[in-house]
Amino acid sequence: MTQPPADADARRAVAPVICYPDDTLPVADLALYARARAGARKTGEVVVPPRDGRAFRVPAGSFFRISCPDGAQVGDLNLFNANDLSERFYSGKTRALHGTHLTVGDRMWSSFPALRPMATITADTLDWYGVDTYGGRVHDVIGTRCDPYTHWLLSGGDRYHHCCHSNLTRALSAEGVVPEQAEGLVHDVLNVFMCTGFTADTGQYFMKASPVRRGDYLEFFAEIDLLGVLSACPGGDCGSEHSSDAAACHPLLVEVFAPDPADLQGWTPPPINGYDRSHGL
Ligand SMILES: [Zn+2]
Repeated sequence: MTQPPADADARRAVAPVICYPDDTLPVADLALYARARAGARKTGEVVVPPRDGRAFRVPAGSFFRISCPDGAQVGDLNLFNANDLSERFYSGKTRALHGTHLTVGDRMWSSFPALRPMATITADTLDWYGVDTYGGRVHDVIGTRCDPYTHWLLSGGDRYHHCCHSNLTRALSAEGVVPEQAEGLVHDVLNVFMCTGFTADTGQYFMKASPVRRGDYLEFFAEIDLLGVLSACPGGDCGSEHSSDAAACHPLLVEVFAPDPADLQGWTPPPINGYDRSHGL
């Protein structure tokens, strides 16, 4: 190891600065969302079977709720602009703007060049969890999704077909996207209900049994027309392992609620990002 310089401690003692101060971001009007949600009626639902994926559609201005109707279960969520699948959820930038884990008031931001809110989180029955003694928090945007390639690598060649990556690929294919293209459209997820963090000593990504229980939910407002794809992770509550059939797995429920348009007065779908894409050329 390199010999520490004489001023090593002084360099370490420099205070950090927030990379992206969020005080100039457009603020979510939670009072408006609450009013709209109060008068909304349910218009549809999709059940995601254990170790599988399903797609669902949510028109701009509607709400969708992801819940655990049975037992503790983690979900891996992808979001697309329903009218242009090249605009999709950007986990990394969302993490940079809001932090490692999301809750009420945070947005799910879309990829470049749109970079706009796709959905706003409006309710979270696990918001009480906060941060535990291990540094664990709920609903992360730090994991990517369990996938058969990493599993093949780490297991010495085992093939498993029900990782979230594959579940999302099949669910997208069922929407009419040809399988070869579907896999390429799957992207880093919001890990709904998953409890994760980084270990303090080695900085490794960890998971632990989700605190989610039957009836818990995370609810979103769709800022644009959405195609959502959700996988019920083969890890179940992700308390032991994923990428296998070992864990107890449960379904997830997606419900869509449409407000009275009169209650949405004052809200407009966010425009795509205003940067002109000239890049100094
Ligand atoms: Zn998974």
